[in-house]
Amino acid sequence: MKKNVRLEKIVSLAKRRGFIFQSSEIYGGFGAVYDYGPLGVSLKNAISQRWWRAMTQLHENIVGLDSGILMHPKIWEASGHVSNFHDPLVDCKQCKARYRADEFAEDYESIDWSTTKCPTCGTTGKMTEPRQFNLMFKTIVGPVEESGSEAYLRPETAQGIYVNYLLTQGAMRLKVPFGIAQIGKAFRNEIVARNFIFRTREFEQMEMQYFVKPGTDDDEMLRWKEERIKFYTEALGIDHDKVRYHQHGENELAHYAKEAWDIEFEFPFGWAEIEGIHNRTDFDLRRHQEYSGKSMQMFDDEAKERYFPYIIETSAGLNRMLLAVLSDAYWEDEENNRVVMRFHPAVAPVKAVVCPLVKKDGLPDIAHKIVNELKNHWKVIYDQQGSIGKRYYRQDEAGTPFGITVDHQTLEDDTVTIRDRDSQNQERIPLTGIVSTIQDRIDNYSK
Ligand code: ATP
Repeated sequence: MKKNVRLEKIVSLAKRRGFIFQSSEIYGGFGAVYDYGPLGVSLKNAISQRWWRAMTQLHENIVGLDSGILMHPKIWEASGHVSNFHDPLVDCKQCKARYRADEFAEDYESIDWSTTKCPTCGTTGKMTEPRQFNLMFKTIVGPVEESGSEAYLRPETAQGIYVNYLLTQGAMRLKVPFGIAQIGKAFRNEIVARNFIFRTREFEQMEMQYFVKPGTDDDEMLRWKEERIKFYTEALGIDHDKVRYHQHGENELAHYAKEAWDIEFEFPFGWAEIEGIHNRTDFDLRRHQEYSGKSMQMFDDEAKERYFPYIIETSAGLNRMLLAVLSDAYWEDEENNRVVMRFHPAVAPVKAVVCPLVKKDGLPDIAHKIVNELKNHWKVIYDQQGSIGKRYYRQDEAGTPFGITVDHQTLEDDTVTIRDRDSQNQERIPLTGIVSTIQDRIDNYSK
């Protein structure tokens, strides 16, 4: 049966098989940034497409947006990020290790740091008092560094949605409740970046902001909470017992939130947040009205009055979601001495490998023809290197769900074998039925 996997195994497979590389490796690496190789970028795209479909295609009242990473700096004053978006930092003066104070205790202000032991070097009495450290990256816009030319790399995609919400609503003639979804990069100068791609300084968010009538917000919150956890188990095929909710207590709540829930996943290093679902009330819209001087209210046709909608936010990290998918998929099949990435076929980077059993007798030509047909539908690859068993095992590690093999019987009766990655079962199917069989198995997959 499946056991909990160690993170190092995932890191090593991710590098070996071209999922994820450390950034700038030939220069010794660049802290907390990662690059995605061929299989990684395919997997990442497939996961984000699942999310985009779940939001903008399966909901008629949710539309997409793609706003800039750089925005007017006042946006971050209005949102509270300039004054509130910081982490408490403590240093060990002995070994220079650096920590977030809240990793020692949530109530870190009551800690006596002069008696605290450094977890790295073990020295007591060398920890600094916590200092607040703003997580936003600053940059300079224009050729001259002068005051007024500073801007921030966005630390969340949400604000791009708020400042565009009336334009979007008007253009699409939306009525509350409606949602705006966005996928894009966000940047945070994290003090402690660790656990591979779990916490990085550059990452992608998938956020959906749902605009509702005040008073309906509690019900909508409940609905989104339920809908979002299903996404993990149904759309991504993650085990039910690996995801759970965590409700934010009073002292965990962000300054803008009335109620907040995390969806947590059981990573190799323990349970941790992958997505936050927040009732942000009308905090952001009121603040943008105050700071921009422009009305951020909607007009209620029935009551004939202007009001601020409330916002329920679902905010997920694409990279964390990908790490969850990798961790959930990793399976050491000890019985058969192989490593299998049991991705849901809908997100598997390569859908099928097509193999001629031998490199002669016309079998490669037929296999190429099959590749030419299948590639109109999915990413598939051709492989004729090595024994058929080795070829399958290579693809098991890449998570390719189907193996199509052309053999001598194909010449006689126009059938091929289709091998299932997880069970290793093989069946003969007609050449003309390959596309429909694969599609059917993708649509009806269960572990
Ligand atoms: P954490 O407590 O882990 O720092 P957060 O509560 O600050 O996260 P949010 O601001 O709610 O996170 O961001 C929403 C989502 O964005 C998170 O659930 C996570 O998936 C993702 N995310 C946030 N920070 C990072 C990061 N540094 N690296 C990767 N993903 C991140």
